[in-house]
Amino acid sequence: MNIVLFGPPGAGKGTQASNIAKHFALHKISTGDLLRNEIKKKTTLGNEINSIISKGLFVSDNIINNLVLNILSFENFKNNLIFDGYPRNLNQAKKLDSLMKKNNQKISCVLSLDVDKDVIVKRILGRQVCTKCGSIFNKYYYPATDKNHACLSKFLETRSDDNEATILHRYNTYLDKTLPILNFYKDQNLLNQINGSYDIDQIFKEIRAIIASLETWLCKLYLYK
Ligand code: AMP
Repeated sequence: MNIVLFGPPGAGKGTQASNIAKHFALHKISTGDLLRNEIKKKTTLGNEINSIISKGLFVSDNIINNLVLNILSFENFKNNLIFDGYPRNLNQAKKLDSLMKKNNQKISCVLSLDVDKDVIVKRILGRQVCTKCGSIFNKYYYPATDKNHACLSKFLETRSDDNEATILHRYNTYLDKTLPILNFYKDQNLLNQINGSYDIDQIFKEIRAIIASLETWLCKLYLYK
């Protein structure tokens, strides 16, 4: 099973992708995380990526598609993936389709988290990521506590692109470049839209129900083949 998680910045894709990966034993592929890892290495490419991300712009399709191509070549990732933050434009969506076909794989479903702009801004401004374990928290909606986080609070960081000016730019880019992908997946009957303004557990409950029905369907398909 390969899943694409779709939604505006701040929709909670990272949190839900981690939940899904854990619950359904899938590998999470976050292009944002892959890019931030490259930045940490302080390579020439990493520095170039950093200046693009901090302006709220998209990194080139070439860089992104190469990162994904590399991941798809791992045998134990085959049919076991959840994509977070990819594809982000129509070109990437078409490229993903062709890469999947080449690797005898396909996308099983697309989960779209729909959230209003004002909720997004508040979510992003409150977002904190633990640099040690990768967990995502929110100062306003889901603060890190002794009960939900084992690492020290000094590891909690705000992402450099999580400021108000960059958020608005990222949101407009989403409307312009990413939203058109929805129709691409709707036409393929892959799209499931979810209200992403509910709390984390409620959204995950809905996601689990969608994936469970998909698993039943895939199982039947296999049995009657
Ligand atoms: P994210 O962690 O998904 O919010 O991504 C952070 C930033 O990384 C985005 O604002 C973009 O600048 C860049 N980025 C992540 N994924 C992609 C992608 N698929 N295509 C282009 N840029 C991306």
